[in-house]
Amino acid sequence: MSRFRTLYIDMDSFFASIEQQLDSTLRNKPVAIAALENDFGCVVAASYEAKAYGVKTGTRVRDAKILCPGIHFRPSRHRLYSKFNKYISYLLDDIAELESIRSIDEFQIYLGRDYSSLSRALLLSTRIKSMIYEQVGKEISLSIGIAANPLLAKIASKINKPDGLQWLCEENMPSRIKDLYLEDLPGISKGIKRRLLGAKVYSVEDLYYMDPRHARLVWRSVEGERFVRSLRGENIPINKSNRGSYGNSKVLSPENRSPRNAYLVGRWLIEKSAERLRRYNYCASRLDIFLRLDNFGSCQDSVTFLYSQDTLFFLKQFKILWTRLSPVIESQRIKFVGVRLSGLINIQDRSGEFLTNLYPGEKNISERLSSSVDNLNLRYGKRIINFGIHREHPGFFERG
Ligand SMILES: [Mg+2]
Repeated sequence: MSRFRTLYIDMDSFFASIEQQLDSTLRNKPVAIAALENDFGCVVAASYEAKAYGVKTGTRVRDAKILCPGIHFRPSRHRLYSKFNKYISYLLDDIAELESIRSIDEFQIYLGRDYSSLSRALLLSTRIKSMIYEQVGKEISLSIGIAANPLLAKIASKINKPDGLQWLCEENMPSRIKDLYLEDLPGISKGIKRRLLGAKVYSVEDLYYMDPRHARLVWRSVEGERFVRSLRGENIPINKSNRGSYGNSKVLSPENRSPRNAYLVGRWLIEKSAERLRRYNYCASRLDIFLRLDNFGSCQDSVTFLYSQDTLFFLKQFKILWTRLSPVIESQRIKFVGVRLSGLINIQDRSGEFLTNLYPGEKNISERLSSSVDNLNLRYGKRIINFGIHREHPGFFERG
C-alpha cells in the first residue's frame, strides 16, 4: 500500500475569494483583481464566476470587460492577502507540520508517520478544509493534493479545482494524470516543452515512462532526471547533499530584518558564493534561496538555468526569485537568509552539447568580467570592485 509524505494546499482564486469574503456584495459574482484599473492593466486574479467567462490571470482589463460584461474590478491589496497567508499558515501549523509556505496561496505540509496512510491523510484534509471554512471564512476554499513527494502532491492539488481533494500514488499513476497537458505540470516551461517535443515526448504519459537519463539530457541538467523520478513517486529530497554546491547563509541581527536589508544580504551572499564557485572552476545550473521569517514558517524557491559562473547572471536570477517571493515576505521580518548554487559541473566539462556556443573551459564575456573582478580584488587584498550595491552586514552572527 502506498505511503504518503506530502499534503499540498492550493487556495482557490485566493485574492478574489478574500475580496468576496470581506465584501458580501461581491459574493457569487464575477470579480477580478487588477494591478492597474485602467483599460491597459492586467487581471492578477479572477473569481471562479469570472473564470467561467474566460477571464484569467493575465487577461487585459479591457478584454475582461468584453468577455464578461458587469465584471466587478477591485484593486490588488497585497498586504491584505499576505495577512491572510500568515493567518492560514498559523492555523495550519497548529494542527499539522507546515513544512513550507510555497507562495502566497500555496502551503506544503509534511505528513510524517501519523498521517502517511491514505485514510489518515484524507482525515487531515477534511479537518483542514473545515478549519479554513470556519476560521478564515466561508468564501475561502482550497484544493488539496496528497502524494509521496511535493511535486506529485502539487500536481494532485490542481486536478479538480475548486474545492478539490485528490491523491496520486502507484495505484492510480500515470492514468490519473494522463489527460493533463505537459505545460500543466509545474516546472514544465515553454522551453522545456519544446525540447520534450523534440525528443518525441508528446504527453504526460510519455514523460512518465521516459528514461530519467534521457530527461537529464533534455533538461540539460540533473533537474530533468529528478523531475521524472519525482513524477514516478520517488521522494527526491531537495537537498540531496551539501557537497556539489556553493552556498552561504546568515542569521540577521534583530535591527536588520526588513525585507530590503535581507535582500541586500542575499546579494552579498550570492557574490561570495559565486566567487568561491569560480575559484574552484565550477559552473552552476541551479539557484535556491531559503528564508526564515521572524514569527512563523519559512519559504524557499529555486530556479534552474544553463551552466554559468557569472555573478551578474546569478544576481539577476536572485532578483527574479526575490520578486516571486515578495508577496509572502513584504510585510514580514526576515531572520535568516540562505542562498545555494548547485547542479555543478567543472567548466572544462561545459561544452557545445549544452548549446552555450562555447568551447569546453571557455568563459563568456560576462564570466570573464567576473573573473577579472576576482583577480583585482585578490591582487589588492580587499574589495575594490563590486557588483552594484555591496553591503556587508556587520553585527550578524554566523549560522551554526
Ligand atoms: Mg491558487
